Amino acid sequence: MRRDIFSEEHEIFRDQVRRFVEKEVEPKVAEWNARGMSDRATWRRMGEEGFLGANAPEEYGGAGADFLYDAIIMEEMARVRAHGLMMSLHSDICMPYITTFGNEEQKRKYLPGAISGEILLGIAMTEPGTGSDLAAVQTSARRDGDTYVLNGAKIFISNGQIGDLFIVVAKTDPKAKPAHKGISLILVEADTPGFVRGRKLDKLGLRGQDTSELFFEDCRVPAKNLLGTQEGQGFKMLMQKLQQERLVVGVMSIASCRRSLEDTMKYTLERKAFGQPIAHFQNTHFKLAELATEVEIGQAFIDKLLAAHVRGEDVVTEVSMAKWWTTELQKRLTSQCLQLHGGYGFMMEYPIATDYADAAVQSIYAGTNEIMRLIIARRLGLTG
Ligand SMILES: Cc1cc2nc3c(=O)[nH]c(=O)nc-3n(C[C@H](O)[C@H](O)[C@H](O)COP(=O)(O)OP(=O)(O)OC[C@H]3O[C@@H](n4cnc5c(N)ncnc54)[C@H](O)[C@@H]3O)c2cc1C
Repeated sequence: MRRDIFSEEHEIFRDQVRRFVEKEVEPKVAEWNARGMSDRATWRRMGEEGFLGANAPEEYGGAGADFLYDAIIMEEMARVRAHGLMMSLHSDICMPYITTFGNEEQKRKYLPGAISGEILLGIAMTEPGTGSDLAAVQTSARRDGDTYVLNGAKIFISNGQIGDLFIVVAKTDPKAKPAHKGISLILVEADTPGFVRGRKLDKLGLRGQDTSELFFEDCRVPAKNLLGTQEGQGFKMLMQKLQQERLVVGVMSIASCRRSLEDTMKYTLERKAFGQPIAHFQNTHFKLAELATEVEIGQAFIDKLLAAHVRGEDVVTEVSMAKWWTTELQKRLTSQCLQLHGGYGFMMEYPIATDYADAAVQSIYAGTNEIMRLIIARRLGLTG
């Protein structure tokens, strides 16, 4: 079905992104998966092409384009399974904190490098003891003169090894009641003494991503690295940016589903059993017809949300719905597509095996799917 949210300019841009991604990104994917991280040279090439922060303001080197351009880049990266290079985390999840809440000095210092691919971004919220319950973070940022001294541990941080600048969620007031009012966001450069990169974690899927531990050991940063005009605004800022973060997951989920489905259709047409392609069995027809239907439903919902997000509407409830629904579709779809590959589906040399493993995390990060349901229930007025 033709997607009517994109203009002719968007489609021209998609062709340009697809050509670049097929030529310069896709050949690197296997190497990233083997090494457990992406490479800086490709990040810089993405920057040179204008594919990092397409949405960012022109005065700092961005293209000032609408969010649909970012969505196109995400979809094209997902199409070649380039999950190792976390372009969406950098451009669409981290960068907006600086463009929206950064002061002029912070924007001038960090945005041009982030847009060119010289300064790679990460966000450090999760800790060994807390993930979903963000207000319970223990990492502290104690004010000492014109500095903050950070202490604590973070876990599961994407871009943890390659990242240059981290938005760190820390407590500036550990005694605040309610606890979330004591949270602030602080920019920490990776070469700051006391900033320590821990292990690159061994994961089931997303093997090309350098998901890591981070430690802060009396890590002293200038007080002017606080995001926002005063302490205690961190939780509010995080809540404000979650709509886009969850939409990003939905966009990539549907794009990944399309690729898994496409490859499975090809496989079932080629593989024969009982003298005919397995695509010709009625079970295969039914399974693939059902999955193709659900992908179209998911795409229609995502496109409606993309259009609303670009118009600046509050669609937190609907984006939370899309996040859980599309990611659970992706898990179901990759499982059924793997089954249609038979034993080959279990072999890592068949992309459906990595698709299946990669899908597992989609219902966990960016807020678990259980948390999505809590948000929806709250916004439906069910929690009193
Ligand atoms: C590959 C990967 C990349 C990641 N990247 C980042 C990153 O870049 N930065 C970052 O900060 N974090 C990152 N994370 C962390 C991720 O956001 C957290 O894992 C997630 O928020 C869940 O937190 P948790 O793991 O502590 O699980 P918990 O919060 O311990 O949850 C465990 C289970 O309990 C359920 N649960 C929790 N509370 C409730 C409730 N109130 N009601 C019902 N069920 C509940 C959850 O849904 C889940 O099923 C990443 C994680 C992974 C795996």
